[in-house]
Amino acid sequence: MVVLRIEGAPVSDNVSQVVHRLRDIGLNVETTALRGETLLIVPGASPVVQEALAAMPGVRQIKEVNVPYPLVSREWQQETTRVHVGNVTIGGGEPVIIAGPCSVESEVQVRAAAEAAKMAGAHLLRGGAYKPRTNPYSFQGLGERGLKLLRAAGDAVGLPVVTEVMSPSTVDLVSEYADMLQVGTRNMANFDLLRALGACQRPVLLKRGMSATVEEWLQAAEYIVASGNPNVVLCERGIRSFEVATRNTLDLAGAVLAKQRSHLPVVVDPSHGTGVVELIGPMSMAAIAAGVDGLTLEMHPNPKEAFSDGDQALTPKQLEEIVDQVMRLADYLTPAYAEQGARREYGIRNS
Ligand code: PEP
Ligand code: MN
Repeated sequence: MVVLRIEGAPVSDNVSQVVHRLRDIGLNVETTALRGETLLIVPGASPVVQEALAAMPGVRQIKEVNVPYPLVSREWQQETTRVHVGNVTIGGGEPVIIAGPCSVESEVQVRAAAEAAKMAGAHLLRGGAYKPRTNPYSFQGLGERGLKLLRAAGDAVGLPVVTEVMSPSTVDLVSEYADMLQVGTRNMANFDLLRALGACQRPVLLKRGMSATVEEWLQAAEYIVASGNPNVVLCERGIRSFEVATRNTLDLAGAVLAKQRSHLPVVVDPSHGTGVVELIGPMSMAAIAAGVDGLTLEMHPNPKEAFSDGDQALTPKQLEEIVDQVMRLADYLTPAYAEQGARREYGIRNS
């Protein structure tokens, strides 16, 4: 596949000249408007055609990329993309911690969770308002009321919020309340949803399908970016295997492979990835040691009373210990961040 970067919008003369030239010689072209430029994806342009295209007006870059996910590949872009969620940057070198309950259950619960997440040093608050439950009789989430409660709790403690969106028809509604939209494992291959998220500018947390290969996961990310939204963060959350002692098999090698193959930031979810409270700390440490960009951790003010995923919910104290340990590890591994680490600790204790 060949990617062309062209000055100007898709409707500009520069772009339409190139598109016409390609169509004239029988080649297919996909057009993406990204960051004020146009990217054209052309499967199968020969070196001769590439040379001719490179000389056309407005063509800034032309590159052959040998993977089915050109725009999210490291072959196309070497440096890791930084994704901004409110005042938080994912992919900037310092691990970002997303924490909060599986589901938003009530005003009191989500407010207590928000305060605990903030106290523990998390950077983003999570909580589901639309829950993709395996069983139709399980708690399905509070819907829009849940979005409002999550937003209010995040604002009260000063944390941007992340929540799941399940269908294209609710992308606008969820975008009104959330700073980042999560695509759950069961929806990774919902291509209509991925396209709808490409058309909105909210950052997206794209979970890996529980039966998806790394290549399929990266192609799902490509859908979002090719539809116009470059702000995608990948999330490894465990895959199905023969093992039943853990809820899923956390594929840390897959997370690292995704980072090597793609410029998108990668976070790891050891909560769904193991389903076992005692494994969440060790796997968090392993993920950070492996160089991922952050973690998402489920925490409930009172795990025994959780409406969903109570068995894997950390207590506020357990969360605090894990965040403390992974941040120390990150400071140790990346001395350049150690100074910021010290400031971070003061910031948390004083606010
Ligand atoms: C969740 O984050 O609560 C969730 C439903 O995750 P997943 O889609 O990975 O199961
Ligand atoms: Mn959950």
